[in-house]
Amino acid sequence: MEKTDILSLSLEELTEKMVEMGEPKFRGKELFSWLHQKQVTDFSQMTSLSLQLRRKLDEIFCINRLKIARKLASSMDDTVKYLYELPDSNFVETVLMAYHHGNSLCISTQVGCRMGCQFCASAIAGFVRHLTPAEMLLQIYETQRDTGRRIDNLVLMGIGEPLDNFDHVLKFFRLLSHASGYGLSLRHVTVSTCGLVPQIRQLADLRLGVTLSVSLHSPDNHRRSEIMPVNRKYPIEELLDACRYYFSMTGRRVTMEYAVMEGVNCSKEAAKQLAKRLKGMQCHVNLIPVNPVAERQFRAMRKTAEQFQAKLTSLGIHSTIRRTLGSDIQAACGQLRRDANRQRDCACQNLFSESFHIEVVENPHGGDGN
Ligand code: SAH
Repeated sequence: MEKTDILSLSLEELTEKMVEMGEPKFRGKELFSWLHQKQVTDFSQMTSLSLQLRRKLDEIFCINRLKIARKLASSMDDTVKYLYELPDSNFVETVLMAYHHGNSLCISTQVGCRMGCQFCASAIAGFVRHLTPAEMLLQIYETQRDTGRRIDNLVLMGIGEPLDNFDHVLKFFRLLSHASGYGLSLRHVTVSTCGLVPQIRQLADLRLGVTLSVSLHSPDNHRRSEIMPVNRKYPIEELLDACRYYFSMTGRRVTMEYAVMEGVNCSKEAAKQLAKRLKGMQCHVNLIPVNPVAERQFRAMRKTAEQFQAKLTSLGIHSTIRRTLGSDIQAACGQLRRDANRQRDCACQNLFSESFHIEVVENPHGGDGN
């Protein structure tokens, strides 16, 4: 029988299991805190529990780990990018960024993605599966274990579409923010979506306090549908209505992500149309010069983003240009995993450029029995 991954169980579920096993109710909370506060990696480390109970737990449950398959440290800033190997040998990416206001971690929510955005490396290899709540938590716990740095802010902007894995993401939020667990306030969490309208509305109704970030990338339905197939189902008008609803329910300004792409979305007309669409909205526009992906033609210089910003400013729309961290280590989502998968298929391929400081860690948790 396959063991249940205990990290995905809520406090209520753990308590129920403990009672079923003839333990007192409070044992659930005790166990939860060993797992999520002290973050032990083995039942034998739960020293406040009887030896007999520890053995019994080990027979029924497992505490999964992620293996660091690759670790890239930027030589330009403090950014560290991990390629984590999941228990079933799939890969996901996690990026740690240091800002003056603390450590920010960008995590993946799916193996691959089924949204098909044209400019995104995650979409190219297609969708494999959803991540479990435990696999999302583990990206935080393993990174903290490796660096000794506590995570202050979390962004769901790695591989995958978080709102396409809605139930697991919600459970992950509850586990993450629990006072007897990691205890990260959801006010320090940002969810990025390509625009799944019903789920945006559902998230708004829950008033969890998370910040919503929407990948807009074009104010024109025809153009947006070309680069983001999700727009064919949920056009811009519906998406922006859902954003207005999000603000009305939560009081939190929505961030509009806009990857500037030469010849695609940064003309004068695009700026005018964008300004018209966003007029009066409580939102923040974040411009990102598109990160080139080998298989695709999309390109933009920082200068192009600055020119587009100037056009927006003249139309009364304030925006920022995202500081690109870790650009030397392929910090854009999906690039590292895609390369690793390719390398698996073709062992002769040279994976990384040699001009950067790269630390490759082979099986750092060697033989932990999971
Ligand atoms: N699926 C979610 C989150 C993952 S993508 C979403 O679509 O928002 C995280 C962000 O990176 C999104 O804003 C996405 O549009 C952007 N992105 C993807 N590929 C990019 C690239 N090549 N250059 C710049 N931004 C990119």
